Amino acid sequence: MAEYKIAVIDGDGIGPEIVAQAIKILKKIENLSGNTFVFEHVLMGGRAIDEFGEPLPQETIDVCLNSDAVLLGAVGGPKWDNLPGHLRPEAGLLGIRSALGLFANLRPAILYRPLIDACQLRRDIAERGIDLVVVRELTGGIYFGERGFKDDGKTAYDTEIYSEQEVERIARIGFELAKTRRKNVISIDKANVLESSRLWRKVVERVAQDYPDIAFQNMLVDNAAMQIIRDPSQFDVIITTNMFGDILSDEASMTTGSIGMLPSASLGSSKLGLYEPIHGSAPDIAGQDKANPIATILSVAMMLRSSIHMPEYAQKIEDAVSSVLEDGYRTGDIMSEGKTLVGCEKMGDLIADAID
Ligand code: NAD
Repeated sequence: MAEYKIAVIDGDGIGPEIVAQAIKILKKIENLSGNTFVFEHVLMGGRAIDEFGEPLPQETIDVCLNSDAVLLGAVGGPKWDNLPGHLRPEAGLLGIRSALGLFANLRPAILYRPLIDACQLRRDIAERGIDLVVVRELTGGIYFGERGFKDDGKTAYDTEIYSEQEVERIARIGFELAKTRRKNVISIDKANVLESSRLWRKVVERVAQDYPDIAFQNMLVDNAAMQIIRDPSQFDVIITTNMFGDILSDEASMTTGSIGMLPSASLGSSKLGLYEPIHGSAPDIAGQDKANPIATILSVAMMLRSSIHMPEYAQKIEDAVSSVLEDGYRTGDIMSEGKTLVGCEKMGDLIADAID
């Protein structure tokens, strides 16, 4: 019997509601497996600003560093929107990824068969199947490059910057992942315009030579944005930069029915990982029991695969999500005619009950 420490950041908006459902699932797994999860709740984002005057207190970093995994809801909201950049809740997000050395963000987008009606694409396209993973570089690029104002605040700039080492380590994560999947990697850049993308392309092509069994191609980001809608079934593993990955994974999420379905894992060079839904704090539906908890629950499945070695329970969670959808239960964001509308808490109960 093992004991695992999980740092929990509930966050803002719908964060506490969806995290409560994820913890419900982990408690069910505790009962079934005999392993113990010790949860330590810490603050980040808006609630940390309210309590400590900063979005990412050192104590939060320390607790996360001392854990096996971090579970995060989402942060941010209108209350904190007018603060200066470094004091906004989102600064906590960038800060924690960087403090924990999490340079790779894995964002799977899977269209569950029962959700074909919630998919925004034409039925014949959806029926080809969607099962892709965006491997997004997380601690470099334009989100971390030099930025500022010039000309008395009349001109602003941000800088896209990548080193060979940063590109190589994310590329290797993508190719290693492809080995366990359909063995197909597409690297997405803007090498026809950006110098940083030309370096990106050169390094990824070099890494690709170490993986002769993996089919590989480059794709320009504007074409990729179009191809994800035209035929998402052509994608298996996508490797891309911080900003392109941020945007393309939201786009891919809509092909799966809702942003409320997409989990993510942020990984570094150790076992410690941070697991969170890709969506934000959805202030428009916060506190109304309307949020879809599935993205957060599927993030727990990723946690059980990558940070806590319990892959068989990860599979049980994913099977439970499928069976609840198969039985016709839906939160509002994935609702369609003839299905049963349930709230966030009920969806959590149904999935927990479906885990055997
Ligand atoms: P959002 O993802 O919070 O919401 C976009 C839309 O999707 C909204 O209509 C919302 O109701 C809906 N939605 C999102 N998650 C849902 C779920 N689980 N179930 C049902 N519907 C869901 O994006 P936004 O409105 O642009 O941002 C809101 C706040 O979240 C902002 O402060 C933003 O900075 C922050 N944010 C945080 C993160 C994060 O914590 N990782 C990510 C993105 C945005």
